[in-house]
Amino acid sequence: MELIVDGWFHEKNSMWPHQATSLEVSEVLASEKSKYQDILLFKNQAFGTVLVLDGAIQLTEKDERVYNENIVHIPIMSHPNPKRVLIIGGGDGGALREAVKHPSVEEVVMCEIDERVIELSKKYLPGLSAGFSHPKAKVVIGDAVQYIKECADCSFDVIVSDTSDPVGPAEALFEKDHYTLLKRVLRPDGILCSQAGCIWFDLEIIQKMMKFSRELFPTVDYATFNVPTYPYGALGFLLCCKSNEINFKEPLRTLSHKDLDELDISVYSQEYHRGVFLTVPRYIKNAM
Ligand code: SAM
Repeated sequence: MELIVDGWFHEKNSMWPHQATSLEVSEVLASEKSKYQDILLFKNQAFGTVLVLDGAIQLTEKDERVYNENIVHIPIMSHPNPKRVLIIGGGDGGALREAVKHPSVEEVVMCEIDERVIELSKKYLPGLSAGFSHPKAKVVIGDAVQYIKECADCSFDVIVSDTSDPVGPAEALFEKDHYTLLKRVLRPDGILCSQAGCIWFDLEIIQKMMKFSRELFPTVDYATFNVPTYPYGALGFLLCCKSNEINFKEPLRTLSHKDLDELDISVYSQEYHRGVFLTVPRYIKNAM
């Protein structure tokens, strides 16, 4: 709550020093300390309901689809026949809502460490949490690092790492040891898509993740797109595949605009899919 001053929330954070996103608070919906993190939900008249964990904005109702659709549909549409999907984190339910939409997908397991994020999302973010009641959805409460260790080899076609930033409970999820385990539980043509920092201030983390991912996977790529309420208005995804026959820049399967409308997919399209790989600045590509 100390980040709310004179009715404004300021996202001041040592991870992105010397600048902050500020949003006016019209109503505080929830403010509590769970076993793992500080959870804040408030309303803003421009962006709707906002979820903040440990002082960092996780989503707003207005722009969450850019993040949730891309982190899910880019890997799923790059895979020849995805049947089993794992979401790491994702407690707000947005990624789960998107993953269950795909007809080929038979089961989506979501492993979230903090049950309170799920409970508060069900209460205050019904547009995101609708996927929790879908028959394909299976929710596991626990630390994803431990959960992955207990999974059998080759369990998943697609893994979506929808975690908070690499501090606190999510820190280990950005390390090479964890990626080594993720590779083990992916099927032979399996794809991993992970939120992976912002090109404007996380270059060292991105370089580290790209380096160890290339040591583990034959196919690695990086995409970035605009999300207005994330620091510097941008976020990137790291994509890895166990097969060298995948080109992330060209979706293997397509959905027509009619299909997209029927599935209530409003940001993602084949054109958008290609575009997110084109907007990485040349000097950043060279530094990767
Ligand atoms: N879209 C968001 C972003 O990038 O800002 C992330 C959304 S989601 C709310 C992130 C979730 O990851 C949180 O609910 C957090 O509890 C969960 N999480 C963090 N560390 C985890 C871990 N070790 N195992 C499972 N879930 C974890």
